[in-house]
Amino acid sequence: MNIDNFYEVLKDEPAYRLKQAQKLLFGDLIDDWNQASNLPLVLKAKLNLECPIDIKAKVLAARDKKSFKALITLNDGAKIETVLMRHKEGRDTVCLSAQVGCLLGCVFCATGASGFTRNLNKNEIVEQALFWARYLKTNFKAKITNVVFMGMGEPFLNYDQVLSAIRVLNEPDGLHLGARHISISTVGLVDGIKRLANEKIQVNLAVSLHSASDKIRSDLMPINKKYSIAQLLRAVDQYIEKTNRQMMFEYMLMKGVNDSDEAAEKLAVIMNKPLYVVNLMNYNETAVFRLVDEKVFKNFEKILIKRKIKVTSRYRFGSDIAAACGQLAARK
Ligand code: SF4
Repeated sequence: MNIDNFYEVLKDEPAYRLKQAQKLLFGDLIDDWNQASNLPLVLKAKLNLECPIDIKAKVLAARDKKSFKALITLNDGAKIETVLMRHKEGRDTVCLSAQVGCLLGCVFCATGASGFTRNLNKNEIVEQALFWARYLKTNFKAKITNVVFMGMGEPFLNYDQVLSAIRVLNEPDGLHLGARHISISTVGLVDGIKRLANEKIQVNLAVSLHSASDKIRSDLMPINKKYSIAQLLRAVDQYIEKTNRQMMFEYMLMKGVNDSDEAAEKLAVIMNKPLYVVNLMNYNETAVFRLVDEKVFKNFEKILIKRKIKVTSRYRFGSDIAAACGQLAARK
């Protein structure tokens, strides 16, 4: 689907036609212009030609029917994965990909292991959200409540297209998702954090931390050799100073790697700031590492809470369909 072509086709039409077409696409969530009974035939034919809106996707549901993964085939044949998570509090969060593959090679991540093909453009990012909006409407009569950029790729390595896509998602005549309900998760690219601090858009930012030790973090995430934890936290503090927004740090527990009492104590020292929040997750086994058992998870969480660190936690989500963090690899 090409949003730019959509606006191009409608630019010479009266304003009410654009409104009608936007409502059909983003409100009624039609997946074929032939369903647009209120548009003239000639316009429908032009839209079908210039801006087809079908999305080629296959969906896999987890056993618990709380998470779903879609494999989308793009126009050039590239494949990407995107995830829907249905939370019991009534939230429906979609996890979007920013790139086909990833350059950064975090050792725990299936996307990193599959290499890098290309950046996604704005339309291909919006298409993922539109797909889930249609899916939720058809199957659950529900709507997307939250968007996270935590799928394939590093959003800040595709900064302009990700931000353009967010503006489309946020648009009142588009999917109208509140910016405060949209989060970008970065591996910790300092330049991207600084850039985002100056944007006039109130999206949330999360950082994948996974260790408070530079040695362990560099082993897990090669980007840490470029930006140390101290440099990363300096950029985060500047971001908070400018935006006064809360910062989420993702910490995925991996057995024998970053799950000890000592690791928790070390994490508590650097996370002890008013707007810092730790989001604790269990590892979703891919190849090299193992997840931790519930007792270790709870113990780690307890140490942080005892040190007065704000913590949210998620023991497991979507692991049986490889839809969890670090598992998206667009396998066939
Ligand atoms: S964790 Fe994120 S940044 Fe690291 S390799 Fe995977 S997709 Fe890339």
